This record gives sequence, C-alpha cells and structure tokens, in this order.
Amino acid sequence: MNKIYFYNTLTLKKEEFKSIKKNEVGLYTCGPTVYNFAHIGNLRAYIFEDILKRVLIYNDYKVKHVMNITDVGHLTGDQDMGEDKLEKGARRENKTVWDIVEFYTKAFKNDLKLLNILEPNIWCKATDYIKEQIKLIKILEKKNYTYKTSDGVYYDTSKFKDYNKLSHLDLDTLREGARIEINVEKKNPTDFALWKFSPKDSKRQMEWDSPWGVGFPGWHIECSAMSLKFLEDQLDIHCGGIDHINIHHTNEIAQSEGATGKKFFNYWIHGAFLNIVGGKKMAKSDDNFLTLENVFGKQGINPLVYRFFLLQAHYRKPVEYSLDGIKNAQNGLEHLYNQVRKLGKITGEIDNDFKNKFLEVINNDLNMPQALGIVQELLKSNLINQDKLKTILDFDKVLGLRIDEIIFGENLINKEIPEQIQQLIDSRKLARDEKDFIKSDELRDEIKELGYQIEDTKDGQKTIKLGNRV
Ligand code: AMP
Ligand code: ZN
Repeated sequence: MNKIYFYNTLTLKKEEFKSIKKNEVGLYTCGPTVYNFAHIGNLRAYIFEDILKRVLIYNDYKVKHVMNITDVGHLTGDQDMGEDKLEKGARRENKTVWDIVEFYTKAFKNDLKLLNILEPNIWCKATDYIKEQIKLIKILEKKNYTYKTSDGVYYDTSKFKDYNKLSHLDLDTLREGARIEINVEKKNPTDFALWKFSPKDSKRQMEWDSPWGVGFPGWHIECSAMSLKFLEDQLDIHCGGIDHINIHHTNEIAQSEGATGKKFFNYWIHGAFLNIVGGKKMAKSDDNFLTLENVFGKQGINPLVYRFFLLQAHYRKPVEYSLDGIKNAQNGLEHLYNQVRKLGKITGEIDNDFKNKFLEVINNDLNMPQALGIVQELLKSNLINQDKLKTILDFDKVLGLRIDEIIFGENLINKEIPEQIQQLIDSRKLARDEKDFIKSDELRDEIKELGYQIEDTKDGQKTIKLGNRV
C-alpha cells in the first residue's frame, strides 16, 4: 500500500493514514439538514469528501461510507434554542415536515449525481434511528454525564475531560463562543441538549416517547448514534466543513467517548469554506444563497465546472465565489475536454511514471491543484496518444470529471432516459443484485436493441445512448 497523508484536525498535523482494518476504511461524513436546497458552499464540503473517498479507493481501499440526513432536531440557534429548522421550512412552504424532508433529500441526491459524487454505501435518516439515540442518552445518563432542565436533557460538558481536544481552544474561549444565546438553566455555556421536550401547549409534527418525556433528539446525538451503529469497529475518518469543529464534532466526541469510554474517530478532516465576496461564508440562513440550479442549471453550464473550479484550490484553503471564476473554470474544463478529444478513442497503457507522480500529490493531503498540473504535464509529454488517454482516464477515477463520457459517449445524467428503458435498467439492476446473471444479460441485450448500452462500473450501472459515440 502507498503511504497517504492527511491533515488531522485532532493533532493539527499532517499524519500518515493507517486504517483500523487492513485495506478497509470506515468513513462518516455529516450530511445535510434537509429544510432547503443545499447551497454551493455545502456542496463544496461534499465534493472535498468525494475526492477524499476517491483517493482512498484509488489506493485500493475498500471504503464503507456512511452519510446521515438530518431530518429533525437541528435548531435555528446553535445553543439548542430557537426553532426546529425542519418545522420552520414546513411552515414556510405550507407543507408537512415529512414532505419537506422528502423533497429536499431528493433534491440533494440529485445535486450529488450532477456533481458526479459517489453515493455513500449507507444513507441514514435521523428519524429512523431514534431508538439508538435514546439508548445512547441512557448510557450517558447512567454514567452521570446528563442533567435535566425544564426544556430537555443536557450533556454536562464539565464532566468530559478534554472537551476542547478537537477545537484546541481554551475552555474560556469555547464558553464565550457559546454564550451568544442564554439558557439560564444550563450549568455551563457549552452544555448541549441530548433530548428536547415538546412544548407543553402544542404538538410537534415529529415527536417521540422517551424515558424523559415526549420530545425529539438534539442535533448532535444522531451522528454519534449512527456512526457507532454502522462503523462500530471501523471508526477511521470523520469529515465535515470547518464550521463543525467547535460545536457539532466537539459534542459528537464528548457524547461518544463519554458513552463508550473509547476513542471515537482517529482522523478528523475538515474542508474550508466557500465564501461570498468579502470573505463571508455562504450560509443557508442568508436568503440569497446560491444553489447548483441557479448558478449552473439555469445558465446551461455543466455542473462539473463547479467540481473543476474547486479542484483548482486546496480543500483547506478558503475559496471565494465569483461568476468570473466560474467562467474561467468553464473555459478550463472545456479546454481539457478538447485536449482529451484530440487523443482519439483508442486506449493504450497506463504510464507508471505519471501514475506515481499523480499518486504522490493526491496522497499528500489531497493536493488536487498539483494533480491538475500533472494532467497538463502528461498531455504535453511525448508519450503516445493512446497511453496519454489511458492514463488520463485512470486519473479521472479521482478527478471525477466524466472524461470517459466525453470520449466514448454522451452524458445522460441530465437527459431523459425513456420510461421503458429505465424500467428495463431497474429490472436488470435487480437481477444483478440477486445474482441472476442470465436474466441480467438478457435484459442488457434487450436494452441494446432499443439503442442504449449498459456498462457496469464500480459505481453501478451506467447508461450510454448508442449512436452518440464520438
Ligand atoms: P448543513 O446542511 O448546514 O449541516 O451543512 C452541510 C455541510 O456543509 C457541512 O459539512 C458544513 O460544514 C458544510 N458547509 C456549510 N456552509 C459551508 C460553506 N460556505 N462552505 C463550505 N462548506 C460549508
Ligand atoms: Zn454530524
């Protein structure tokens, strides 16, 4: 195995990555709160995490990737005050919370597809694992980490040694940061809700019985409960944007390590922000946030331009959004596609010297700007075109720019696949899942007769419309 180095927020150092299980990695990425569209700032986090995952796969790790969907309990204030973001979203749109969740989860998954982000192996919704969350809170209660107030059950952060080990802030600074909203019943400003009670005079759309009373879980507990459930013995890497360091991830560690008495994740990797002009973080609470559809879809720009735009910066450096920047990236990506088109359609051999150079930079804390430099070096080299093509297609397993489709077929992601074909594709997937390969081959032939080709890739079935090969 090659050596891979990641910058670990826990140690503030670039460290050699070592997985708990040989050749396998457990990866947990904090997912969206689905009360609105994801903005392109959120999507920066998911693109960085996708690159991280692809680099691990490229290095022959089997990655078990878990992503949660927050569909309850994320309040508008970070200090467990204010309104539930989901209920607020439902009121805004005059829909039920459940409708809101379904609609924005679908929209989010569609964004991931458009950006060629590999799907997690396990999606988990907070509301599907309430039992697990209650169980964890009960353990914390038994170990004396909790106390009750009039509005919920809270975690007493003064009981957890090293509460500041991820943020590296002194406790006074952390407490100051938490003092913005005052809850006089909290023992320490940094204490946070594990379980919130439903208001006495009204019924919430989402609420559950618990040993402490009817209510709903606090936001942080879902990620502890679900990562411990699905990655129990593979707590390798946990990711998110840097805004999660001081509160959400800090609290996840306090809850999980408090309950299990064992180290939670070994590597904590955080992506920097996408800012708007002036260095301000793009945030969902600002009404003018930009979605993938607004910036790319409506302008007819390939969403992969955004991926290319971000590949030009290191994930730990802030990036400022500007339309000029996007236009430059659009030209850059089109130029790259044209360079590749000129190589022809026949592939040769992967060039190992270039592959090693590429590996060295991507394994050095995901240095994608340098990786793009190596792509250009390769294109300008005196290798034969066939080898250049094969090598670049190999690199694209990490870059994720769908270069194969530029060469061999049309990208169907944005285009309609006729219903009849889609049904056959779905049946074929079912047949393959059930290992009925005779049936799946028959279906492949039937689909081919109708003018579409199915290719089985690591990421599932891919559909190519025949006749569109360039
Ligand atoms: P949320 O849906 O607010 O929980 O955020 C989802 C993900 O987006 C988290 O990993 C956040 O850290 C990340 N995030 C939020 N805003 C930004 C931003 N402006 N730039 C980059 N990442 C962000
Ligand atoms: Zn989380």
